[in-house]
Amino acid sequence: MSDYSKLRERMVKRQIASRGVGSKLVLDAMRKVPRERFLPQGQGIFAYDDSPLPIGEGQTISQPYIVAYMAESLALEGGEKVLEIGTGSGYAAAVLAEIAAEVYTIERIEGLASMARSNLDALGYENVHVRCGDGTLGWPEEAPFDGIVVAAGGPDVPDTLQQQLKIGGHLVIPIGRSKAYQELVRVTRVAEDEFRTEDLVPVRFVPLVGEEGWAQEF
Ligand code: SAM
Repeated sequence: MSDYSKLRERMVKRQIASRGVGSKLVLDAMRKVPRERFLPQGQGIFAYDDSPLPIGEGQTISQPYIVAYMAESLALEGGEKVLEIGTGSGYAAAVLAEIAAEVYTIERIEGLASMARSNLDALGYENVHVRCGDGTLGWPEEAPFDGIVVAAGGPDVPDTLQQQLKIGGHLVIPIGRSKAYQELVRVTRVAEDEFRTEDLVPVRFVPLVGEEGWAQEF
């Protein structure tokens, strides 16, 4: 076992399972994806720290526990079609790709979208599709999705994303009226025109910037 595999195993035990994430699919995915391969050159030694880390362009790769918690909140069973907003480094997309059949992921900053593409290609993730654009508008040509996860905090749940959910599907998104703090919310589409919303945990994410998010200058 390499040093990174050992660190990864320890991360799953101490940072994730011990905090209550119990889905075997999610824990196995977290055990498998090499987080060090999604960090900027020379930063690999920090890969298994219990924190978010900078990835350039003022953005971050999320804390491993939060990636696992959000993936578990989608309640995937394997084989689904999932949309992620906020590709960043591509790490969370890789975790989702270990569980779902196809992952569609949108990043608004071109430099990050192309970095994520090369990180994912280098590891052979052919079931992850990266697009540069405003993720608050979703990916209409590929909708509906079994699950949608948003890795940036918006002021309200984007209606367009809700409309791209399958019935029974979940949308997990940080929502808050302030830049500094959000509540992680899960929206379930229970019928064509009926959505149920649950508050999960308090979180801190970078802003979701876009037509159905915050304005650019935020
Ligand atoms: N999931 C990423 C990972 O594993 O590295 C971390 C995501 S980072 C916390 C949030 C990302 O959301 C940033 O890269 C940011 O540029 C992106 N973002 C913000 N608003 C967006 C939008 N409207 N559409 C797409 N991406 C957006």
